[in-house]
Amino acid sequence: MVKVEEYKLPQHNISSEKFFQPTRLYLPLAQHTGKPSQPLVRKGDYVEEAQLIASQDGLISTCLHSPSKGRVVDIDEFNHPVLKRAKAIIIECDNQPKNYSLRKDIDSLSKLELLDIIKKSGIVGMGGAAFPTYVKLLPPKSIDTLIINGCECEPYLASDYRLMVEKLEGIFKGIEIIYKILEPKTIFFCIEDNKPEAIKKLNLLINTKKFKLPFISLRVLKTFYPQGGEKQLIYSVTKRRVPSSKLPFDVGCLVHNVATCFAIYEAVYWDKPLIERLVSFVGDALVSPKNLWIKIGTSLKELKEKGIINFKFEPKKIICGGPMMGIALESLDYPVLKGSGGFLFLSKEVDLKEELPCIRCARCVDACPMGLLPLEYAKRVKAGDYDKLQEFNIKDCIECGCCAYICPSNIPLVHYIKIGKRYVTNS
Ligand code: SF4
Ligand code: SF4
Repeated sequence: MVKVEEYKLPQHNISSEKFFQPTRLYLPLAQHTGKPSQPLVRKGDYVEEAQLIASQDGLISTCLHSPSKGRVVDIDEFNHPVLKRAKAIIIECDNQPKNYSLRKDIDSLSKLELLDIIKKSGIVGMGGAAFPTYVKLLPPKSIDTLIINGCECEPYLASDYRLMVEKLEGIFKGIEIIYKILEPKTIFFCIEDNKPEAIKKLNLLINTKKFKLPFISLRVLKTFYPQGGEKQLIYSVTKRRVPSSKLPFDVGCLVHNVATCFAIYEAVYWDKPLIERLVSFVGDALVSPKNLWIKIGTSLKELKEKGIINFKFEPKKIICGGPMMGIALESLDYPVLKGSGGFLFLSKEVDLKEELPCIRCARCVDACPMGLLPLEYAKRVKAGDYDKLQEFNIKDCIECGCCAYICPSNIPLVHYIKIGKRYVTNS
C-alpha cells in the first residue's frame, strides 16, 4: 500500500438533489461483469422511466432499465470506457420525471422476495467492479462478516463521501436488507480517516440504535491506497487473508460498497431500479469540481454543452475513474455507466519519465497490497519469458498501480503486468 496525494478538496462536496435532464442517453448493454444484457425494445419504441429495456443473459449478468421517458432512436455501437465500442440502446428523452411511491409492508418481505427485487433492479457493485449484486448476495458458503466499504481510497473521487454525508439513513436501510438476506454475525462499516463529516454522522447514527443492525460497528481506518480493495479491507478489519484465486466468501466475508447499499434501499423501498448515481467530476481543468446526481447513459459531451461541467482549461487528459486505476478516454463522447463513480479532467498530460534499469530495491514488493513480485513480471515480460508468470500469481494483481507509483526507476510496471496477464489468459 502507498500514501498518495489525495486531492479531495472541500469543494468536491457540492451535490445537487436536482437532476440534470439529458436530451439523449447512451445505454451500453455491457455495464457489468458477465454477459451483456439482451435488448427488449426496438428502434422507434416509446419507453417509460424505469421500464425494463434489456434482460439479464445468463447467471452472471443483469438487466437494464430506461433512466428516462423517451423514444428509442437506435440500438447501435457507441463509445464505451472499457470496451472502447459496444452495443448501446440510444434514447431521446422527454423531460417528464416519474414519481416513485413507497412500497408497503417492507418488513414482511422474505429473503427470496428481497433478492428478487434486487435482481430485477439491475443493481451492480457501484465501487467500480460492477459485479451483479444479487449474485454476490447468494454466496455458496455461509458468511459471518459483512463489510460495508466507505473507504473510497482513489485520489480525487468523493462521490461515496458525499453520499454518506447526504444519504446515510438510506445506506443503513440498504444494509438492513443485506443483513436480513445474509444474517452475518458481525457488520463492520469501514471508512478512512480523511472523511470527518461522514465519520461524525456515522457515530451519531450508530449510537441512535434506530436500525435493526445489532452487530454493526464503525472502523475508522488510516488513509492508505488501496485500502478499499476487497482483499485489503478484509485483512485490515478481520486479519483474514483471502488466498490466491479465492474469493471473500472463502474466508466467510462479503464486502459491499456504500453506493450499492443505497441502490438496494431505493430498489426495495421505492421500487426504483438502478438508473442514476452520484458522480464526482474532478480535476484542475474544471472551473469547480463537484459531485452530481446523474442519469446513467448521460454523455460527458452533453454535460459540457449544457454547462453542467465547465472547463477553465481544455482537458489534456480525461480519465474515467481515479488517477490510480482509472481508464483514459480520448474525448468527452462517453456515457456515465452504473459503475462510474467519477471522471477526472487534467489540464496537463501526465509526464512520462524515462524508464531506467531496475535497481532491485524491492520497493514495489513492499508496496504491493497483494504480496506479489511486480519486478519479476516486468523482467519476464521484457525478456519474452512468459512461462513463469502464472507461477508468480500474476492473475492476483488488482492493477492498483502502487508498484509503478513507488518505483524510483519509473518502470511502467502495470503496463508490463497487463501484457503478461493477456499472455497468461490467452495461453
Ligand atoms: S521498485 Fe522499481 S527499481 Fe525497485 S525493484 Fe521494483 S521495479 Fe525494480
Ligand atoms: S503488482 Fe498489481 S496488485 Fe501489486 S502493486 Fe502492482 S498493480 Fe498493485
